[in-house]
Amino acid sequence: MFSFRSLLIGLSLLTTFADAADKPNIIIIYADDLGYADLGCYGNPSIRTPHLDQMAAEGMRFTEFYSAAEVCTPSRAALMTGRYPIRSGMCSYTKRVLFQYSPGGLQKEETTLPETLKKSGYSTACVGKWHLGHLPAYLPTSHGFDQYFGIPYSNDMDRVKDAPKDAIRSEKSEYFQVPLMRNEQILERGPDQTQLARRYTEEAVKFIREKKDGPFFLYFAHNFPHVPLFASEKFHGKSPRGLYGDVVEELDWSVGQVLQTLRDLGIDKNTMVVFSSDNGPWLIHRDHGGSAGPLREGKGSTWEGGMRVPGIFWWPGKIKPGVCREMACTMDLLPTAASLAGGEVAVGHESDGKDIRPLLFGEGELDRGVFIYYRGERLYAARLGHWKLHFTTQPGYGKEPAAAHSPPLLFDLGADPGESWDIAAAHPDIVAKIEAAVKDHQATVQVPANQLERTE
Ligand code: MG
Repeated sequence: MFSFRSLLIGLSLLTTFADAADKPNIIIIYADDLGYADLGCYGNPSIRTPHLDQMAAEGMRFTEFYSAAEVCTPSRAALMTGRYPIRSGMCSYTKRVLFQYSPGGLQKEETTLPETLKKSGYSTACVGKWHLGHLPAYLPTSHGFDQYFGIPYSNDMDRVKDAPKDAIRSEKSEYFQVPLMRNEQILERGPDQTQLARRYTEEAVKFIREKKDGPFFLYFAHNFPHVPLFASEKFHGKSPRGLYGDVVEELDWSVGQVLQTLRDLGIDKNTMVVFSSDNGPWLIHRDHGGSAGPLREGKGSTWEGGMRVPGIFWWPGKIKPGVCREMACTMDLLPTAASLAGGEVAVGHESDGKDIRPLLFGEGELDRGVFIYYRGERLYAARLGHWKLHFTTQPGYGKEPAAAHSPPLLFDLGADPGESWDIAAAHPDIVAKIEAAVKDHQATVQVPANQLERTE
């Protein structure tokens, strides 16, 4: 018989369904060391990426999308917190990233993207590379993720003592005894890395199927195309670009699997998918590294090739297909996702990202302000509008020391995306304006204890 109680239950179920429908699912697919020009839709002449090209054609492709750091650990800290890594202490000029012996990691005081979305009722999962601390206090499950499956740091770590010098090019997983984890448990040591992209993809697809009624947040961070490179049998030896191309083409397949799963489940129109990379190509690995195309330098440097990366946003029926030439960055993902989820960005934290809904939905301009390029805890450069000022420059890797510039070097990234011609002398007003914006930024920064090199 009909009762007041059943009416209440019915109403609360309706509310739940309404909430779920209002809140889009959010998926971030993150490649490791993929360069600006490594995809077909970003101009690569030989790597075939039909799924990402289609995603870009149906969605919004940014030509000025940035990671907020030049190497893995700080760039992931920035994505997760919406803040420059200098604020969380997840950066270091000397150590650069966390290693398998590092005792530190992302501190619990930080508010992360999954924590923010959980407050709005999201289920959350992290699949793949974490690299914000592998000890229990720092793992994804301690930072707002309901579940985790993956390798907690880079796939070239835990190298066995007797590995040959060229182990990185050997295509032998056994030289790298990295842990494959489920939540806080190690499942395997030195997993067969040729199967990694496939296993991660299966895990991601399983989570999407289980949580199809939403809302859910999936952070899907591949270990590739970071070296050592591995591709499964289906892709190995197939790409005109060699093994690097094989690996990127398999990542493209993986993206296709995720998008097709959303279509099959009929939730594609209620899911925003973002694709990006944590930093530029690792050029010292030559053919085993990627390409930044017209941009200067690569991973590890604060030249454009180190931090400007592919950025594709896809949400059929919501995001207008096209190319966006406005600047955006990975720190924007937290405030944007929080707004889409109807939640709020935690107060009390200095946030550096912007809610980029105006760009995604064609609803007007965004006041970006200054964007800062750090290498470790050192401020190297700043961008305001299409102008970029370098106070210090240095190649990403190698023995060349940092070169300080006084006066600083000024480039017009519109006219000169390759940063070839210093035009500071002709524009003292622009130099002064950026210097003032940098001072304002620095006044907000309190450098915390370095979490990469701490010993307790
Ligand atoms: Mg990386």
